[in-house]
Amino acid sequence: MTQTAVRVRFAPSPTGELHVGGARTALFNWLFARQHGGAFILRIEDTDQARLVGQSIAGILESLRWLGLEWDEGPDVGGPYGPYIQSQRLELYQQHARWLVDHGYAYYCFCTPERLEQVRKERLARGEPPGYDRHCRWLPPEEVAERLERGEQAVIRFKMPLEGETVIVDLLRGEIAYDNRVLQDLVLLKSDGFPTYHLANVVDDHFMQITHILRAEEWIPSAPLHAQLYRAFGWEMPVLCHLPVILSPDGKGKLSKRHGATSVLEFKRQGYLPEAMVNYLALLGWAYDDKQEIFSREELLEKFRLEDVNPHPARFNFEKLAWMNQYYINHVLTLDELTARCIPFLQEAGLLPPEASDPASPAFAYAREVLALVKDRLKTLAEAPDLTRFFFTDVEDYDPSLLVPKKTEPAQVLQALERAMATLEGADFTSETDLEARLRGLAEELGLKAGQLFMPIRVAVTGRTVSPGLFETLRVLGRERSLERLAAAREKLAAYLGTLAWSTPSGQ
Ligand code: GLU
Repeated sequence: MTQTAVRVRFAPSPTGELHVGGARTALFNWLFARQHGGAFILRIEDTDQARLVGQSIAGILESLRWLGLEWDEGPDVGGPYGPYIQSQRLELYQQHARWLVDHGYAYYCFCTPERLEQVRKERLARGEPPGYDRHCRWLPPEEVAERLERGEQAVIRFKMPLEGETVIVDLLRGEIAYDNRVLQDLVLLKSDGFPTYHLANVVDDHFMQITHILRAEEWIPSAPLHAQLYRAFGWEMPVLCHLPVILSPDGKGKLSKRHGATSVLEFKRQGYLPEAMVNYLALLGWAYDDKQEIFSREELLEKFRLEDVNPHPARFNFEKLAWMNQYYINHVLTLDELTARCIPFLQEAGLLPPEASDPASPAFAYAREVLALVKDRLKTLAEAPDLTRFFFTDVEDYDPSLLVPKKTEPAQVLQALERAMATLEGADFTSETDLEARLRGLAEELGLKAGQLFMPIRVAVTGRTVSPGLFETLRVLGRERSLERLAAAREKLAAYLGTLAWSTPSGQ
């Protein structure tokens, strides 16, 4: 028995950034291809010139590469069935549209937009579904020839059978039957010579030898026309598999920008990891069992089964994605990997120089030490600059009152800061144990609770009341910077006390 190799395609239209729904379609195609030793083809469907958005092809390629969904054939990489951009294949579609006309499967339609609008209104008024009344389907051939000869504008429409049924078979849903009487004679070729989605999609799937079509559920209504086109051409239809719709978190409608980020590149900018995105997207419509949620790419390749995709709508859950991202940051990435991923965000925030990208650079090594301290709290890479800023630049200006913990006198804090400087002067800054022992000793000596001493020091060296552990922070900052910041804090507090004394001369 000969087995045809699996060939699947992802066929986005470049109308903007790649949406997570499109990315999920691409992922399922990619997984299916890789599991079957098949080919994953990328085809750009840019025939609807009015909806094109410049730069979106580049953005789509970038998104797919970022997710690690490499294609075997497509723009950039080429392949035996190219070109893979539809606007470069117009001739092929035009030939096939003419073939359909010549063989009685399609016809020229000269109806003007005004007439179509009129027909639409009339049909609606009669309570019929809007659509075309097939006026030109019945024009005498001589009239058609003559009007074409005169150069009259025409589109080519498909002749849908007027009775009977068109049955499509969906891998997840089984047979879906359509009464041909409700189907339309849709346009295949526009008057400007561009094909519609239907014609280009079918012709390309055939010539690119696609075996399985995995695409979004919204394309199901197009499938009967496609089935009829395959029949007219005498071609075998690929296996159809429509993937479930992705709904908003509340399940009330399709996921859209109103609900949060929806584009892959937006998630990238927000500091999500491609690993977490891929893992999360795989679960939009598919589950292995009711327990396992974390799947590495290798596990997905092993466990994913297209047949097990649930055709019911899937809800997009931003919290779950964020949880997953944090999981990958905390438990999956090595510290070196995390550092490399955070560096672009730190550079973007002006906290690191370009050379930090080099893993052999001292700046990289330093960032690595810093990130080790905040790793557990990072939910996205984009949070790294805010959490670590004070390790890379001076502390931001802070309110001196932050230096004074509750139930502590400002004068005590002033003294504590002074003594802390003296104590830390002699400390071993490579040892958190030494730093801790000294500062605990000092607290005791001064008759302060640990927190009463540690809080002012924390605020002094970080400018904040919440930071990574104090001793590790001191260790990473080092002696010089720590002492400088303590001295500055002492000045700040002294000045603040001076102001206080001056504004309340009677002394509180
Ligand atoms: N160009 C269509 C889209 O952007 C492709 C649909 C299909 O895969 O057939 O969704």
